[in-house]
Amino acid sequence: MSSHVLHRNSLVQPPRAVAGDGIYIIDANGKRYLDASGGAAVSCLGHSDPDVRAAIIEQVGKLAYAHSGFFSSDPMEELADDLIAHAPAGMEKVYFVSGGSEAVEAALKMARQYFLELGEPDRKFVIARRQSYHGNTLGALSVGGNMWRRRQFEPLLIDASHVSPCYAYRDQQANETAEQYGLRVANELEEAILTLGTGRVAAFVAEPVVGATSGAVAAVPGYFKRIREICDRYGVLLILDEVMCGMGRTGTLHAIEQEGISGDLQTIAKGLGAGYQPIGAVLVSGKIDRAIASGSGFFQHGHTYQGHATACAAALATQRAIRDRDLLANVNIQGENLQNALTAQFANHPYIGDIRGRGLFRGVEFVADRATKEPFDPARKINAKIKKTAFANGLMCYPMGGTIDGQLGDHVLFAPPYIVSDEQIGDIVSLFAKTVDQVFA
Ligand code: PMP
Repeated sequence: MSSHVLHRNSLVQPPRAVAGDGIYIIDANGKRYLDASGGAAVSCLGHSDPDVRAAIIEQVGKLAYAHSGFFSSDPMEELADDLIAHAPAGMEKVYFVSGGSEAVEAALKMARQYFLELGEPDRKFVIARRQSYHGNTLGALSVGGNMWRRRQFEPLLIDASHVSPCYAYRDQQANETAEQYGLRVANELEEAILTLGTGRVAAFVAEPVVGATSGAVAAVPGYFKRIREICDRYGVLLILDEVMCGMGRTGTLHAIEQEGISGDLQTIAKGLGAGYQPIGAVLVSGKIDRAIASGSGFFQHGHTYQGHATACAAALATQRAIRDRDLLANVNIQGENLQNALTAQFANHPYIGDIRGRGLFRGVEFVADRATKEPFDPARKINAKIKKTAFANGLMCYPMGGTIDGQLGDHVLFAPPYIVSDEQIGDIVSLFAKTVDQVFA
């Protein structure tokens, strides 16, 4: 065992993963872990997909990598065509990167450059939502609304402010309908733009379904339509962060399809390459592409591994597998199954307040009191205990939260691979029920 790896948590020596088998990961002692979170909503095809493996081997045999400053490649071009053929309306180009934070960084810089090309250099400000996560590099961290992650690294790089997320379980008032609630929170964006000055705001960034920071929270109907109207009214770009909720996770290829709008820029990553290779991308609307093309002519940004041929080949094989095997149908069927099974198990549980989500992106929120929705005292470290106990039980789920700096509630995110079966959904729920019993015993 090496003592030279700087693990994310230097106090913990994690078990060594040595093999993958469908929705399971196996460690060096032969223990099997049911991957009910797809890592961090990454492994949408499971861990040993033969088609992706074959595509990677074939590509490495031909050409593993050629620097994109010199060359294009077949996998990069085919993947871009494939993504645009299935992209939300208005998306015309794909800018490849190596992961989610890089995609958010690129989108933020593209938004800045767009306004420079238009002769509006003062449009630099970014508005995002509280309790949001958009990545850990300093630029992406600057816009995220996850206060405890930000604080120790301040001052950050981009001027950003935060409006309320659309989080009906916590915020919708008894005297308003879902639609009224959606308009009320969306209108905070307009107020923020007017307060900051209409000529100063470059972009609004939001996840269509919030993943890591809130546990699969979708907006109420009409919220994103209103957001789109406000952005259009003030010339603010809409950046949709689908790094976690995109590429089929919520039952449609893009989560935003369910809201009836599209963004000006959209980031994608995790499910794009399904974990077989590191890859991310920005889907770029024609409006932005044309402004850059007719201005300085090229996007002034770049990374060594962007458009990596092997990563693109893996992503192309992943996207074809999702379509050819009709996996989105399974995402919808098993997503309902998971929701129903969790509800049947926990409907009357004293410490579970909400079970929600879309497709195979489901969240369970813990509360100290179901009637008042009072969150647990963070000192109880509920989500850390859930993670540790579940892992000991051979279940990977993704807990986050704690009542820190306005981030409300402990929750767990489930994001199993799209190949999950009825029986495995049953296993996830029974292992989770055992875990919850142990934590609250
Ligand atoms: N945006 C969102 C919405 C995410 O969930 C994440 C990762 N959890 C990121 C950006 C950052 O992606 P990465 O970890 O690949 O840099």
